[in-house]
Amino acid sequence: MLPRLTAAIKHLSLKLSSLAAARGQRDGEKKYGGPAEQPWQNGGQLAFSILNSLPDPALILDDFAVLLRGNNLARDVLGELRIGEHISRTTRNPELAAAIANAGQPGHREQFELVLHSPIERRLEGVATRFAPASKSETAATILVILQDLSERDALSRMRVEFVANASHELRTPLAVLTGFIETLAGPAKGDVAAQQRFLAIMAEQAARMTRLIDDLLALSRVEMRAHLAPTTIADLNLVAADAVEHLKPVASSDGIALVYQPLTAAAEIRGDHDELVQAVQNLVHNAIKYGRPAGSISVVVSHYGNRPGQLPSLQLSVTDDGPGIAPEHVPRLTERFYRVSTSFSREKGGTGLGLAIVKHIVTRHHGAIHIASKVGIGSTFTLSFPSV
Ligand code: ADP
Repeated sequence: MLPRLTAAIKHLSLKLSSLAAARGQRDGEKKYGGPAEQPWQNGGQLAFSILNSLPDPALILDDFAVLLRGNNLARDVLGELRIGEHISRTTRNPELAAAIANAGQPGHREQFELVLHSPIERRLEGVATRFAPASKSETAATILVILQDLSERDALSRMRVEFVANASHELRTPLAVLTGFIETLAGPAKGDVAAQQRFLAIMAEQAARMTRLIDDLLALSRVEMRAHLAPTTIADLNLVAADAVEHLKPVASSDGIALVYQPLTAAAEIRGDHDELVQAVQNLVHNAIKYGRPAGSISVVVSHYGNRPGQLPSLQLSVTDDGPGIAPEHVPRLTERFYRVSTSFSREKGGTGLGLAIVKHIVTRHHGAIHIASKVGIGSTFTLSFPSV
């Protein structure tokens, strides 16, 4: 957080010293006597606008810890700001009080951490800085406090830890099966040819499961690495859908499933990476095959949507199956990594729990959106929508 804070502090320090100078002139260079004088009333409006343009909660206090200004984000985290009163009237947080008291010499940065319990529990990191008085007679130096909400960062690091734990767990299970069978083959089943054949088949299946998981983990990390690089090429959703259907037609027909593809009659061009989009659509079609109705039907449709006056034209690609559908409580979580309605059923079908997470990342990189509509007993439709070029 420091570079961001340093830039903000530099920016504000210039503004604050000129405001402090103006305050000195307005006061006829007389000593500032505390909150009653409210010397920030005019120039303070500008400071308030600057504070509000900061991306983090920020407060300005005088040398007596009287709160002079606070931005709207500060109000969000601290509640009502009692301007013109001692900071303790706004918050009794001991870490914040200590940081203001320790702000020290001009230019010194007092870093601190605090936990707020109300209105919701949050962990924040902050820095309190004192600015030099603008003139010799200026005694009421100004303290700037900038806070940064760490809750989002904490949630991200929790997600990372959970992800590593989940991935390790997913790999450990087939590995344990393999190790067990290797021991059995080397020991009790040494001379049993029939058992060996059976065990080798199971081992091959577990090795394939590990390969699928590693392939999906690599695919996920590849799309994550490119998440902030907008695609530079043009892709046609008609061709994307045609390629995905072509690849999966043999899998669908071996399960007796009819896979129907309906392109848009015109070109369906978006700014996109053809191969990544094919991967996303394949994941959706493959899911429709795995979780759809045996001997059912799947349709892949490319269409326009939302082409109303004043709206940007958009294109969408939807994959619909007539399977058992998904209960509504699961729908919002389906694109989370390793989230599955039934882990055992997904594993039985060769799933890794990463397919939809990969789709979501690819769609996000393409400035698109994913929408899932499902009715239990009727089927599911996964729709990807993108701005057209
Ligand atoms: P998996 O590798 O388990 O298929 P995904 O991320 O692709 O992982 O999908 C997550 C879960 O969403 C699946 O385990 C399944 O429970 C559910 N799901 C996905 N697509 C469908 C579908 N077309 N019909 C019913 N359930 C689905």
